[in-house]
Amino acid sequence: MKRIGIVGGGQLARMLALAGRRLGVACEVLDPAEQPCAASVARHLRGDFDDLQALDRLVADCSVATFDFENVAVAPLAHLAQRMPVRPPPKALAVAQDRLEEKRFIAELGIPVAPFRSVDTLHDLRAAVDELGGPCLIKTRRFGYDGKGQWKLRDSSDCESVWAALAGTPAIAEAWVPYQRELSLIVVRDAQADHRLYPLTENHHVDGILAHSLAPATADAALAAEAKRLAFALVDALDYVGVLAIELFEVDGHLMVNEIAPRVHNSGHWSIEGAHCSQFENHLRAVTDLPLGDAEARGCSLMLNVIGQWPDRQALLACPGVNIHDYEKAPRPGRKIGHLTVCADHPNELGERAQRLFVAAGKSALWPALRERIAAISVQR
Ligand code: AMP
Repeated sequence: MKRIGIVGGGQLARMLALAGRRLGVACEVLDPAEQPCAASVARHLRGDFDDLQALDRLVADCSVATFDFENVAVAPLAHLAQRMPVRPPPKALAVAQDRLEEKRFIAELGIPVAPFRSVDTLHDLRAAVDELGGPCLIKTRRFGYDGKGQWKLRDSSDCESVWAALAGTPAIAEAWVPYQRELSLIVVRDAQADHRLYPLTENHHVDGILAHSLAPATADAALAAEAKRLAFALVDALDYVGVLAIELFEVDGHLMVNEIAPRVHNSGHWSIEGAHCSQFENHLRAVTDLPLGDAEARGCSLMLNVIGQWPDRQALLACPGVNIHDYEKAPRPGRKIGHLTVCADHPNELGERAQRLFVAAGKSALWPALRERIAAISVQR
């Protein structure tokens, strides 16, 4: 049996390990926590990510290494890469970890990104705001996630306060993008440069955290072609192996890349039930040189994150067609502790199921906006 070493033992590693069970691919997770959420479904190697002894154990136990979060330092992965294949390549991680490198890399491929400037001093910040105009966003170059490490700046009068909040952390300034939708793409590539692309997914955030995803998103042929071009260009340029997630803005019928994540992604969780082969299984297939699976959607799907605490289980389980994914994580405000998916052959049925689910999950306030989006899928069909 092939064994995959996963650096990080969070819910993404857990869902990779669960997919591996079916596929006959065992996973071993390296994580410093006593009981990370992947540990109940995979062998757990307890150690810090930069613990060379633990990394060498991973080398001894496994034939290939991957990772489940992008803030793991590049150095330990480079250590692994000298001893075993590391997929995706550490270069992809290095690019995705630094918003400035990431934007430059994507822009050099001719793929649209928001106009941006590097910000290391208050002078840079003032110059950036002058050039980009207000409003704009200031984001730390590293370690930002779920809207953390970023500030909206209305105009140059906000420079001093934002500079104080940054406290000298290297950052970028980004022009404000008046987007119509937030979309994402999950693409998988293997070592023979074979690709599979999941359909565009529409994402809705609340307080900077992904609340729910709808797939496939409505997209005409031109938008779908644009998505395919940019996804394949990105993975080919990185000589990528595995799943890459691409977060996008739709602006006036065109796509602009916001950021990339070199891993399986929350906006692809719907694919567990909603696609022929899930993002998790396809990632495992790619990194172990197995043939890639079909990324086409089966009907349409809605994924709702469970954040902070679980709603009443009885009510959730009474919802027709619901699939519950409990990550076995302790509840905490703002923490993703599970997700729920409903699928259907037809958007009308998806709408009925999603409405029941949103009521049971206590998310009725989010329902009217989603109803419109589901209706849009129905119209396109
Ligand atoms: P990020 O951390 O880059 O994923 O950004 C978090 C969220 O902020 C995104 O999901 C968008 O809703 C919003 N956002 C990020 N960049 C921009 C931008 N340049 N213009 C408008 N909204 C943005």
